[in-house]
Amino acid sequence: MKIAMIGTGYVGLVSGVCFSDFGHEVVCVDRNPAKIDMLRRGEVPIYEPGLDDLIVRNTEAGRLTFSGDLAAAVAGAEAVFIAVGTPTRRGDGHADLTYVMAAAEEVANAMTDYTVVITKSTVPVGTNRQVKHVIENANPNVEFDVASNPEFLREGAAIDDFMRPDRVVVGVETERAAQILEEIYRPLYLRDFPIMTTDLETAEMIKYASNAFLATKITFVNEIAALCERTGADVKRVSQGMGLDGRIGNKFLHAGPGYGGSCFPKDTRALARIGQEHGLPMQITETVIKVNDEIRRRMSEKIVDMLDGTVAGKTITVLGVTFKPDTDDMREAPALTVIPALIGAGAKIRVVDPQGQREGAALLPGVDWLDDVYEAVDNADAVVILTEWNEFRALDLERLAARMRNPAMADLRNVYSVSDTARAGFYRYVSIGRRDLM
Ligand code: NAD
Repeated sequence: MKIAMIGTGYVGLVSGVCFSDFGHEVVCVDRNPAKIDMLRRGEVPIYEPGLDDLIVRNTEAGRLTFSGDLAAAVAGAEAVFIAVGTPTRRGDGHADLTYVMAAAEEVANAMTDYTVVITKSTVPVGTNRQVKHVIENANPNVEFDVASNPEFLREGAAIDDFMRPDRVVVGVETERAAQILEEIYRPLYLRDFPIMTTDLETAEMIKYASNAFLATKITFVNEIAALCERTGADVKRVSQGMGLDGRIGNKFLHAGPGYGGSCFPKDTRALARIGQEHGLPMQITETVIKVNDEIRRRMSEKIVDMLDGTVAGKTITVLGVTFKPDTDDMREAPALTVIPALIGAGAKIRVVDPQGQREGAALLPGVDWLDDVYEAVDNADAVVILTEWNEFRALDLERLAARMRNPAMADLRNVYSVSDTARAGFYRYVSIGRRDLM
């Protein structure tokens, strides 16, 4: 199967590379020439574990190529995936479909024979029908089908998620399109991963409903964590106790500094907007957005409180700024709320993050980037764990405390405990939804 993948971001690149690993012939297209140049040189523009090896393997096998020439890639393809960004539109929370529609029009103009145009980007209900109209208007004589194939991979575990998905969702209008999608995903099908075929609107809705549900679950536990702090309960044990109930499940129950990242914030906002447009406010999702904003705001206050009400002139070392471990993605990361608030209150900030500097340098002006955690806490007044990279999960806490001016830790991912830190010489330790050492 010849496939063109339009957009080589986190989703497009991983999907294109994995499809080539299935044995398909894939051209990954991007309008950003710098990305294509890098990929052609064998460099990977994003950090995603395992992706580099897979690119080398499939490029060498001749199944995977990179191009800036959308027209040529589309002309030779039976299936064209659109995997461009759908960020929040300025002002109203709606998903910005400019990139999707522009890509659809470009694709339409380049199509010569029957093609299935598949939207992999997360798009509001009704978008695939709009894509269909755009293509019909741009190229009225060509035979084609549209399909919706929302993506559920998680950054940091993207390859495994793509190769071993909980499910693949496909929305189609014709049997012909369904068969092409089935052929593309056949390697998974043969390995018993469920492929769910449905209509366009249902497929589009499954994606938003799933992300909003996960955002709700994590926000629910974050709110319970805040109540644990007032009541003396321990949210880690509460989550454990809840998760043992098979109806609840133990995933997405880890309290933290509030969700961020490239999907949950924008997708919850977009779902809320879809509800408003249909005269049916999504009240739960709207509340989740509000509660999450409050939780995120509270994080810098927690750090200030730990340092006796002021951080002015104090040095704070932040461990981890990407929105989660194993990615370099900084989109809507909690660090982008917490760090500017601390700088605004007069703190000096040092940052250690295994992959965050490339994206983070421009987003976090005025911070010092260091490589070594122990050097980074020299004479510091506090250390803050914001992202639970493996590198920060087994720190030598005694060594850390010994190098600090005032050993205080705000552990916003609940990696350590009061007893660990007290034993190591910390005089203050605050975390999420548990008793503090103050
Ligand atoms: P991204 O911003 O990392 O990548 C988008 C890429 O598309 C960019 O490289 C851009 O240059 C390119 N592009 C835009 N218009 C183009 C055009 N006309 N022709 C060629 N290239 C073009 O975005 P992403 O994180 O990969 O997300 C893509 C979509 O997938 C979004 O709708 C997102 O919601 C969805 N999604 C993302 C994730 C995730 O974890 N990032 C997970 C599931 C779904």
